[in-house]
This record gives sequence, structure tokens and C-alpha cells, in this order.
Amino acid sequence: MENCVFCKIATGEIPARKLYEDDEVIAFWDIDPQAPYHFLVVPKKHLASTTALREADDKLAGKLLRLGAKLAQENNVGDFRVIFNNGPMAGQEVFHMHMHVLGGRKLGKLG
Ligand code: AMP
Ligand code: ZN
Repeated sequence: MENCVFCKIATGEIPARKLYEDDEVIAFWDIDPQAPYHFLVVPKKHLASTTALREADDKLAGKLLRLGAKLAQENNVGDFRVIFNNGPMAGQEVFHMHMHVLGGRKLGKLG
């Protein structure tokens, strides 16, 4: 998708501090971290948000969760929170679906 920052990171057009990459998924540290540890797990294919997921994506969606937990463990994040913002009112600013993984400090209540 043209002019999509996460598509450009997925193709390597824009650099990122990568934690993991395979043919389906890329994970990288957030450029504006909201916690001592804050990374994103992103499907390489362009899906605007979780609302765009279809049944055929069930395996991919599960992979994001499993990988997020694995990478949190590998990077000694400790307890962590997983967030998918869906839509502007929920705080979504990049309209390419992504999973936030945050940790390293006591996190407040949601909202
Ligand atoms: P959201 O508000 O859920 O759409 O989250 C978008 C996230 O992407 C924010 O936490 C941004 O700091 C992060 N972000 C935007 N551009 C980049 C980039 N080039 N590299 C890494 N993280 C980015
Ligand atoms: Zn995209």
C-alpha cells in the first residue's frame, strides 16, 4: 500500500530497529516508546486494522500474539501488555494493523 509507513518498513524502504522478521511478520522497537520496552508486531501484508481481519487470517493473528509473547521473553521485558488500537477514537494513528507490546514499568489502568 502506497504511503503506508509500516508497508515501507516491511519492504525495507524505511529502516527500523528490528527484533524479528520472516516472510509474514516483522517486529521492531517503537520510535516513540511509551514504556521502557515498547515494540510492535506487524503483519507484512497491509490490513488497515483488526477490523480488516478475515477468517483466512486467523493463523496470522495467532502468530502475532505468540510472537509478541516470545519476543517479550527473549528480551527480558517481564510482565507486559498487548494492545491493538482500532480506529482514531481508540488512538490508532498508523492505519496498518499492528500489535503493541509494552512493559518495563507498572502500567496503569486502560483508557
Ligand atoms: P497507533 O497509535 O496504535 O497507530 O500506533 C502507531 C505506533 O507506531 C506509535 O506508537 C508510533 O510511535 C509508532 N511508529 C510510527 N512510525 C514509526 C516508525 N517509523 N518506526 C517505529 N515506530 C513507529
Ligand atoms: Zn501498510
